[in-house]
Amino acid sequence: MRNYLLLTPGPLSTSESVREAMLQDWCTWDKDYNEGVVTPIRQGLLHLAGLDADRYTSVLLQGSGTYCVEATLGAAVKPTDKLLILANGAYGKRMAQIADYYRLPYVLVSLHETELITGQTVRKALAGIPGITHLAMVHSETTTGLLNPIEEAAEAIRGKNITFIVDAMSSFGGIPIDLPKLGIDFLVSSANKCIQGVPGFGFVIARKDKLAATRGNARSLSLDLYAQWEAMEKGGGKWRFTSPTHVVHAFYQAMKELEQEGGIAARYERYKQNHRTLVDGMRRLGFRTLLPDEAQGPVITSFLYPQADFDFNRFYGLLKEKGFVIYPGKISDADTFRIGNIGDIFPEDMERLLEAIRSIR
Ligand SMILES: *Cc1c(COP(=O)(O)O)cnc(C)c1O
Repeated sequence: MRNYLLLTPGPLSTSESVREAMLQDWCTWDKDYNEGVVTPIRQGLLHLAGLDADRYTSVLLQGSGTYCVEATLGAAVKPTDKLLILANGAYGKRMAQIADYYRLPYVLVSLHETELITGQTVRKALAGIPGITHLAMVHSETTTGLLNPIEEAAEAIRGKNITFIVDAMSSFGGIPIDLPKLGIDFLVSSANKCIQGVPGFGFVIARKDKLAATRGNARSLSLDLYAQWEAMEKGGGKWRFTSPTHVVHAFYQAMKELEQEGGIAARYERYKQNHRTLVDGMRRLGFRTLLPDEAQGPVITSFLYPQADFDFNRFYGLLKEKGFVIYPGKISDADTFRIGNIGDIFPEDMERLLEAIRSIR
């Protein structure tokens, strides 16, 4: 019962059982919902990440992933702080846009979109910019598919009393992330990426003491992360404003399916296998990837146009007729298109896609 397979990294193809979980209506403040669905989701997120509920907590917030990035930056960075944003793609730059709107004191270090943010990048930035209190960066840069080595950034700020904010939107749930080891204070992700739910809310996993310290900092009512957390804690899972009930139910089902699959480690293996199948097959068909393999993550891949007069719209349309929806490229200095391999997608689907591409080339 699928119109097509979404080979885009969110919204992505969900399982039928996740979609079925939306076939009923629920009351947004009833305890069956708050205690029976929202609270287990909040606990489940910590469990998935292997975190101790004494030190870490999770907050859910309406909207897409960007709303949660905005809520986090708006809460965590005070006017007296200094935020370092390291960017190598559109999502990193979006954090700087948020900082502009909020008039946060920040410095943006922008790298080329094919260049990794390494330990060296961080050390160099810190050496050149005194007084940094917060570091924000993207883990899996969906702009290109690049995977930043956050463990190197973590190492570079260790012991420096710098709050570490990670946009793990397109990696959390699909790539293992050890928050305590990396010293991540705020990790942001959303329902419609690697946990394989549908769009409608995002979530923040935070060190409890760091989140508690943001009380009164927010400059937006609806995006007040602390107030949202407080309401959920005191109200047993209550959201401050109307929650996307159907989406939340679908997410709960998606979380159960992630556990059944074997957790994050197992999903990571499947995504890597999908990715390997895709890239090997595309290379056999004569396509080249934008990124070198060392910089490439297992979530989405940018492919260069095979020839200068490549007609992407025609390619897109023909693939859609065959049941596959792909993504245009998102960088300015190379002609690319992107194919995602996260979601309810398996190596066989990648094989079918490759066959479809072979037949239309
Ligand atoms: C999807 C995504 C976001 C959030 O984008 P929305 O359109 O707000 O959902 C942020 N950062 C990264 C890296 C993403 O992949």
